[in-house]
Amino acid sequence: MSETLPQIVLVGRPNVGKSTLFNRLIRSNRAITHDRPGVTRDRMEGVVRRKSLPPFGIVDTGGITLNAHAAVVEGPEGIRGFESQILRQTEAALASAAAVAFVVDGRDGLLPLDEHLAAHIRRKGLPTLCVVNKTDGMEREDEHLAEFHCLGFPLLAVSAEHGHNINALLEELVALLPAGHSAAPPEPPALRLAMLGRPNAGKSSLINAISGEERMIVSDVAGTTRDSVDVRFQRDGQEYVFVDTAGIRRRTRVTDRVEKYSVNSAIKSSTKAHVTLLTLDATEGVSQQDKRLIDMLNTRKTPFMVLVNKCDLVPRDALERLKKNVAGMLAFCSHVPLLAVSALTGRDLQKILPLARKIREECGVRIPTGQLNRAMEEALARNQPPVVKRARAKFFYLTQAETEPPTFVFFVSDAERVPENYVRYLERILRKIFGIVHAPLRLHLRSSHKKKER
Ligand code: GDP
Repeated sequence: MSETLPQIVLVGRPNVGKSTLFNRLIRSNRAITHDRPGVTRDRMEGVVRRKSLPPFGIVDTGGITLNAHAAVVEGPEGIRGFESQILRQTEAALASAAAVAFVVDGRDGLLPLDEHLAAHIRRKGLPTLCVVNKTDGMEREDEHLAEFHCLGFPLLAVSAEHGHNINALLEELVALLPAGHSAAPPEPPALRLAMLGRPNAGKSSLINAISGEERMIVSDVAGTTRDSVDVRFQRDGQEYVFVDTAGIRRRTRVTDRVEKYSVNSAIKSSTKAHVTLLTLDATEGVSQQDKRLIDMLNTRKTPFMVLVNKCDLVPRDALERLKKNVAGMLAFCSHVPLLAVSALTGRDLQKILPLARKIREECGVRIPTGQLNRAMEEALARNQPPVVKRARAKFFYLTQAETEPPTFVFFVSDAERVPENYVRYLERILRKIFGIVHAPLRLHLRSSHKKKER
């Protein structure tokens, strides 16, 4: 069965964690041990199956380890023998492989044997991902990755033992496989929305108009806070939930009109949602609190859109002025979309949910490292970094560290030499190349010169 699937070979020196990784990847799909005539070592083969991904075979050349150790004790001669053993084993596995996961140890750093193996793998011309194992946290991840750049493979930091970044690894491995094995679209989960805005802006009218007849009010089970009331509905096969609608809907008494429009509780709701909708009242313009909220949402990298409601009540030119005004406030987050709507007439309400889906989708984007680095080369070629303090920063490598929001890390010779406007240029060009239009995005620069001098 696994014979018909494309196979990815795990290659690496002993003890880098190949078998732990292998076991992580195959989960319960038990490994079969093959004793191949003519090949002295066992190969572990298994099938990687995940709901949202096409299956593929995986081969662990880890069996080498035992005999390799035996060879090592023979002394210096043995070490040479040991290397050639690995190469021979690797050779056998590579012969039928579709791609290679070259595993290195982030804690040990780059060893001569890694370079030796890398050179050998490179000559095969197979799609290869360098998997930097034993990295568990972001800070250390960057450090650990830096020195493996010189191998010339796209890198991904993982921890086989702790399961860190394993989903990203699966996606990147599938991306290495020949066309026709690309990822099937995963089942969409309920899209959670938070509706923010000051009292009377039209939040409940909008929720009612958007969710329509099919809506279901879902209160939390007794005993929990009454403030958590969700409105759940379906549209075009997609499930949606407006979270925390209690404060919005329960407004019967006049005192409730002076309902606190607390930035804090607004933020709290938005953290429960995938996408936040900030509603402004076209007849009232933008309040101080709206501004603070926009600032806050922006610094927190919250995916959000701005709705200017009650458009039916203001003349066209006034609406245009207001839109300009709001766009000005969004200057530092120009990716945030702005819609002029009316809960009363239904104007442009049909654009809201597709836009929310688009934002959500963009937030989850995961770009294979190879593509990222081609994009970086293109960005540098079009517009090279400026000279700062008589030198230009060198850009070594680009990697995606996180999704939600997409977070990209540039490894550079000296981050201090990269001015803010160049970072903004890089953001613009990444957005353009990868079609990340409305989602927030983070860019980090990491200097790796210190590492190099060591
Ligand atoms: P909330 O406090 O933000 O939930 O605001 P409501 O949804 O209760 O709306 C406040 C008032 O504005 C109500 O009288 C609504 O009928 C009215 N309203 C809401 N949206 C619109 C709109 O698009 N156009 C007009 N003309 N009135 C609206």
